[in-house]
Amino acid sequence: MCVLGAEWSNLTRLAQAHNQLTPPSRETPFPLRSQKPCLTHLVPRANHNTGTSKDLQYEPSKRASVLKSFLMEFYTALLAAGLAGLVLLAVVALLLHHRGAYLMWHIYLQGYMKSLFSGRSKEQRILDFVLKHAVPGDPTSVLNAIDKYCSQQEWAMNVGDEKGLILDRALQEASPSLVLELGTYCGYSALRMARLLKQGAQILTVEFNRDNAGIARQILEFAGVKDKVQILEGPSEEVIQQLQKKHEVDTVDFIFIDHWKDRYLPDTKLMEELGLLRKGTVIVADNVIFPGAPDFLQYVRGSPKYDCTFYPSRLEYLDVEDGVEKAVYKG
Ligand code: SAM
Ligand code: MG
Repeated sequence: MCVLGAEWSNLTRLAQAHNQLTPPSRETPFPLRSQKPCLTHLVPRANHNTGTSKDLQYEPSKRASVLKSFLMEFYTALLAAGLAGLVLLAVVALLLHHRGAYLMWHIYLQGYMKSLFSGRSKEQRILDFVLKHAVPGDPTSVLNAIDKYCSQQEWAMNVGDEKGLILDRALQEASPSLVLELGTYCGYSALRMARLLKQGAQILTVEFNRDNAGIARQILEFAGVKDKVQILEGPSEEVIQQLQKKHEVDTVDFIFIDHWKDRYLPDTKLMEELGLLRKGTVIVADNVIFPGAPDFLQYVRGSPKYDCTFYPSRLEYLDVEDGVEKAVYKG
């Protein structure tokens, strides 16, 4: 027992000495320390017994290896940052030059990103801009502020200043007493029309999004036309059916259609069926090219009940082909 015990302590001492002087390897017979690769394993410690500086000659190699690993990490991080930058540049180039991506960016992503970071909706930002830059009671200054914000800062689906002129002209020619608008949004087109209405004329504008209706109400009030415009909240197909009974409407003189494009045709047919159109009622439909309302166009252009005129133009605030259709009901 005693011999075996002495033998064991000798072997242990040998192993400790071996482990201190050589880097750990798979062949290390008695791994008394962690086998994980570690700089302290690779560099022998100073010999405290002798106090000689001979063993310290390995310190520069320790520093070199630390420096090497630092540089490797630094270059890897630099490479990753460079690659990320290149990918970002490629995405921006794609967005700017590819038409679909260009539209996607302006119409959806830009506003979405701003809302994400600001916690406020695009419509609230439009209202903020109006309150800050327009003159209360001055419709033109409100329209100018909205056009400025939407052409310079972020796109929004108002009819805009270019197609707005077509709408202005059609409305002035028709000189309506009662206007129906489908799709209020922030109240831009309602305001455009309200400022040109003759004395006593009214606009009924339909909006199913409560937040948009709230913003429109504030913009119309700020512009001083709230008495000329009534916002009817709800889906167009429901509101149209309530016009005669609930809102005492007989027929409508002028209709601006600018809500979701798949509702243009069914709502036009509904208004016909309900007798809301009279001989001479003018329908102006926005965005018939972009995003487009092909079924509506085909219907009114192919129907003997309508006299149609197309006004080519561009999508609001962007260089994209669009147009407005005017369809006069002949009865
Ligand atoms: N005419 C507005 C202007 O030029 O300032 C823009 C209207 S925006 C293009 C369309 C609006 O119609 C949106 O605010 C949307 O919430 C609303 N809308 C869409 N479909 C609707 C529907 N079926 N009934 C009521 N509102 C609708
Ligand atoms: Mg539109």
